[in-house]
Amino acid sequence: MLNFPFDQPGTFFRGNLHAHSTNSDGSLPPAEVVAAYQAQGYDFCAVTDHYMERFGFPVTDTRPFRTGNFTTLLGAELHGQGLGNGGLWHIVAVGLPVDFAPQTPDENGPEIAARAHAAGAFVAIAHPAWNGVTQADANTIADYDAIEIHNEGHTNDSDRGNGWMLADMLATSGSRFSTIASDDAHFKERPDRFGGWINVKAESLDPAALLAALKQGRYYASTGPSIHNVAFRGEQLVVECSEASAVMLGGRGSTCRYVRGDGLTRAEFPLGPFADAFCRVTVIDERGKKAWTNPLWLDELSVG
Ligand SMILES: [Zn+2]
Ligand SMILES: [Zn+2]
Repeated sequence: MLNFPFDQPGTFFRGNLHAHSTNSDGSLPPAEVVAAYQAQGYDFCAVTDHYMERFGFPVTDTRPFRTGNFTTLLGAELHGQGLGNGGLWHIVAVGLPVDFAPQTPDENGPEIAARAHAAGAFVAIAHPAWNGVTQADANTIADYDAIEIHNEGHTNDSDRGNGWMLADMLATSGSRFSTIASDDAHFKERPDRFGGWINVKAESLDPAALLAALKQGRYYASTGPSIHNVAFRGEQLVVECSEASAVMLGGRGSTCRYVRGDGLTRAEFPLGPFADAFCRVTVIDERGKKAWTNPLWLDELSVG
């Protein structure tokens, strides 16, 4: 089943896929960005500098900073014209080749996203609430892997860090993708570090294994709680998680269910109301921090 890490072999590795360094508009050199994530107990990160002419179209090479128990993925935040509101696209691409060819002046956002995807990258539409990405805009990108549903920096500089409205509308209309939480760390004044991440299930911390797991959606997103397991038991969906005050299941349109309580570590939901489309789990702890599964399409259950 696409987007479902819980029945996969391997270990959960924690990582941040969206950060900037002095190679674009961040405050810290790449080595210090990587060191900061390692010091916080992450397993991997990607430094995704703005891929713009004024910064020399950087794909920041963090390979020298990999260690035995911490790795990096190479990426960039891609830009280009083409949003319906006249603004620039922001597209996080992770798994880019270090020699990804510079953008030509007429290459727009959907075109560079397609080129990154064809080059093997995991492509995510960044912070859609912040720059006003609509469903019509998203549908102009032929192949994207993910929507960034939590952006820590834009949560704290504009209250526009939550991308679920776009993601739910796209999922309701039948698009299939996964959903990342990330920092968009610049290490400047606004709080934008160690606030949103993904836990990727992979057999090793090898960058190729991580990238393959990302492309399959073998991960979940969090700003705090852990999701230990999600299982399909007959007509029920069972969620096991770190202590929570609410667990919710959302689906097509207004379809939602919830369980509330103190110190919840397990919740069960009937799958019937979600059977014709998708469902996604939200876990909320007493501090209001959240974890989210990817959208899960129930017609893929038998695929295994
Ligand atoms: Zn951006
Ligand atoms: Zn960014």
